Amino acid sequence: MKKLAIIGRPNVGKSSFFNRLLKQRDAITSEQAGTTRDIKKRVTKIFTKQVQILDTGGLDEGNDLFDQIKKFSIRAAKEADIILYMVDGKSLPEDDDKKLFYELEAMGKDIALVVNKIDNDKMKEKIWEYYEFGCEDIFGISVSHNRSITPLLNWIEDKLPDSDIVKEEVVEPVKESEEEYVWEEPEYDDDDNYIITGEEENEQGTSIYDENDEVREYDESDEEHLKVAIIGRVNVGKSSLLNAILDEDRSIVSPIAGTTIDPIDEMVQYKDKAITFVDTAGIRKRGKIIGIEKFALMRTKEMLDKANIALIVLDASQPFLDLDEKIAGLVDQNRLACLIVLNKWDLVDGKDYEKKIEEVRSRFRFLHYAEILTISAQTKQRVQKIYDILLQMNENYSQRITTSKLNEVINWAQRKHHLPSMHGQVIKIYYCTQYAVRPPQIAIIMNQPKGLHFTYRRYLTNQLREAFDFRGVPLLFKAKKRGK
Ligand code: GDP
Ligand code: GDP
Repeated sequence: MKKLAIIGRPNVGKSSFFNRLLKQRDAITSEQAGTTRDIKKRVTKIFTKQVQILDTGGLDEGNDLFDQIKKFSIRAAKEADIILYMVDGKSLPEDDDKKLFYELEAMGKDIALVVNKIDNDKMKEKIWEYYEFGCEDIFGISVSHNRSITPLLNWIEDKLPDSDIVKEEVVEPVKESEEEYVWEEPEYDDDDNYIITGEEENEQGTSIYDENDEVREYDESDEEHLKVAIIGRVNVGKSSLLNAILDEDRSIVSPIAGTTIDPIDEMVQYKDKAITFVDTAGIRKRGKIIGIEKFALMRTKEMLDKANIALIVLDASQPFLDLDEKIAGLVDQNRLACLIVLNKWDLVDGKDYEKKIEEVRSRFRFLHYAEILTISAQTKQRVQKIYDILLQMNENYSQRITTSKLNEVINWAQRKHHLPSMHGQVIKIYYCTQYAVRPPQIAIIMNQPKGLHFTYRRYLTNQLREAFDFRGVPLLFKAKKRGK
């Protein structure tokens, strides 16, 4: 059996995480007689596979001397196959940590950097600080608030061999009569809920979002009032685009009755909708002086908090940068409808549209649902098209698919490709129903929610996207066990 060590300074949350792992529903709680007395060891199950966890928390009680911590850590790491190096997201990275991390990394074992205490969305930007460790496998989590733990568990499970899969008890096959389509009012907050939020979660590790993140509260007035954040790094052409968008005899309207408008926002009326471009003062002025990535990201976050649609501006004439990707990643976290404009198209050599789109799709895979439009803010080519696309995306974001139509597609999809079974267990989808809009959220009612593998979920998503117009908007899923 593989061993997993949880390492880090005192108080970062190692023991809490250790206990959390043991509290997993499927935990095997047998105590293991340890070879070393002072490192706590327990066997638990990460999803389907068993692993022994070494907890070094408590070893260092009252001992803040980093040398001591280091000694213990190295000892535990030597014994382990997989290392979780945990830091406290509430404090800044320290050189000592970085050095020790590199030393552990040099052991050549699987190692992840876990930034704990990312208790809320606001804290998420703290994770960026830790990117300087250069670790590819970095996870921002909150043990106490139970946030973003699943991607980390998936990562661990992935490192464990199939030979450590613990056989599940065989579940009785579903009786014929139960296979019929039965409508019942689903409940969503029972502990059995297995929440799936993204379509591509954990697949490429780019997207740090949280299955327990709250989707923004639904506000009906949002349907009539689009709030667009124009985001992107410096010099991609945001302020040029804003000018091009507003220039036209489209009247800049005064606030609609009952709404207030910030002087830093610009509001226009288009067809029967109001469109506000949020925080435009920042685009016109502040944006210019802010070169530091951290601030760029913070500002983007602020803008996205006020928006319901993201308009990401990229410079199509230059290679895309990591910062472009990070900024785009924030959109994914907010689950907004999203349009990517490839600006400066006038400067692009050859104008190989297909190739460029392909490049965007592969670099920003986590925004696979985004609409893409090539434009030139300078020549104003296609700029006015943005309005209709925004309106369409707004429709799609609010779209409600009836349960019968939804199930027609899902049933047909299942006939084409059967749901794979899980460890011999028959997995069944009883029905699907859309329970919320903005973004569209769909519950899949099944016998074994955990048996819905993400590749199959993606397959279903693609089928839904083919059947309905969800262009530009994310689809969220929740697999739920049928009410008892
Ligand atoms: P250890 O010394 O690394 O084992 O850390 P502990 O697990 O004992 O946690 C240290 C303190 O941090 C305790 O008071 C925990 O309640 C707290 N803590 C653990 N995880 C989190 C978290 O995700 N967010 C916050 N805000 N506090 C946490
Ligand atoms: P911001 O920092 O993102 O607001 O970018 P600006 O709007 O200030 O644009 C940065 C530079 O790119 C300026 O020199 C613009 O004139 C230029 N620019 C913006 N859009 C285009 C475009 O579509 N084509 C070309 N050729 N230049 C552009």
